[in-house]
Amino acid sequence: MIDVDVAVVGGGCIGLAVAAELADYFSSVALFDRDYTGSEATGAAGGMLAPIMELEFEEFELLELGRQSLHMFPQYCRRLEDETGMEVGLRQQGTFYVATHERQLQEVKRLYEYQQRLGLEVERLPVEILKKRQPALTDQLVGGLWIADEKHIDNRKFAAALYLLCRERGVEIHTNDPLVDLEYDSAARIKTLHSNFTSVQPDLVVLAAGAWTGLLPGLAEQDRLPVRPVKGQAVAVGLDSSFSPDSIVHSPDVYCVPHSPDRMILGATMEEKGFERRVRFGGLYDLLFSAAEILPALRDQPFLETWVGHRPASFDSLPFIGPSPSTKNLYFAAGHYRNGILHTPITAKLLKKMIVDSTTPELAEPFLPTPERLLI
Ligand SMILES: Cc1cc2nc3c(=O)[nH]c(=O)nc-3n(C[C@H](O)[C@H](O)[C@H](O)COP(=O)(O)OP(=O)(O)OC[C@H]3O[C@@H](n4cnc5c(N)ncnc54)[C@H](O)[C@@H]3O)c2cc1C
Repeated sequence: MIDVDVAVVGGGCIGLAVAAELADYFSSVALFDRDYTGSEATGAAGGMLAPIMELEFEEFELLELGRQSLHMFPQYCRRLEDETGMEVGLRQQGTFYVATHERQLQEVKRLYEYQQRLGLEVERLPVEILKKRQPALTDQLVGGLWIADEKHIDNRKFAAALYLLCRERGVEIHTNDPLVDLEYDSAARIKTLHSNFTSVQPDLVVLAAGAWTGLLPGLAEQDRLPVRPVKGQAVAVGLDSSFSPDSIVHSPDVYCVPHSPDRMILGATMEEKGFERRVRFGGLYDLLFSAAEILPALRDQPFLETWVGHRPASFDSLPFIGPSPSTKNLYFAAGHYRNGILHTPITAKLLKKMIVDSTTPELAEPFLPTPERLLI
């Protein structure tokens, strides 16, 4: 049996970033992943860092979390790149949100009015200006918005760099080694964590297993987070040199995110289908059709790959960041739903403040795993 200061369960962007952050303050941090790190939602994402564009009407609390995290990204990535020598593809070229017919236009207007009420920096632009700024947009455009201060990142490179960062900082990474059991002691602490191949006695445990966090084996009933999987299908297409947009192009039905000059991600469906992993004809068709509607030149680009991922969703759509209300040495970092890539730096920072500095920043309040939120 090995003693460790911190055991992190889950090696998506959240678990990796938390482990790397805590490794600056603790001498032994171990991370366990069932598969290889970054293989689930983290690898499936579109990589949008878009707190304004992704804002839904009922998710007001997420706006500030997303904006602060977005603000952290340039410096966070600079440090990540410096420490690992790996480029993560952060791009700062903003977002177009466009409509090609009346139903989409109504949605664009509704969102714009909401964004205006919140005082967000969004421009509603005439069609000619939109076309001038992004010539690849369709001639059928009927309206659209421009959000300058949004970014995107190659989430797979980001996850690979976070893995290297963990290694650089001395995190002991156990891949293909799932958590299989947890033992609690009589003082309401986790005493032992058993993975497939090893057992550790951790001072502190952080659960960051995405959509699987509430299902982890050995979890006491009161620590079962209500997190469910929301299936997303996505597609990658190649880009030839004559067609290489650098901004996100979004409509109410699809988003198109250029990850590099020769690769663009089209995403993503939102489906309540549990952990189903199949790519289905209908989802794929809808994505391809909607993407070609806004960027017609996509029809001539090569098809690269398609996949499914599972967003970890809570019932109030807010992540759980903070201590378990019932188990003294247990913390959660899960339930980041549609914005986990965006929320990675701020989640690591908030957990560090709670664990290392013993403070709970006001920003974290709505995301604490309170008994009420766990009971939903
Ligand atoms: C199609 C799609 C598009 C998305 N687009 C965006 C986007 O554009 N921008 C954005 O910000 N977010 C986006 N998201 C959301 C984002 O991907 C997630 O919120 C984020 O990746 C969650 O990260 P995570 O580390 O919590 O979970 P995951 O990345 O799912 O990682 C969880 C890890 O836990 C491991 N695990 C599971 N069970 C065990 C076990 N028993 N023991 C050990 N390990 C275990 C898994 O193997 C996995 O590696 C998208 C998601 C999807 C699916």
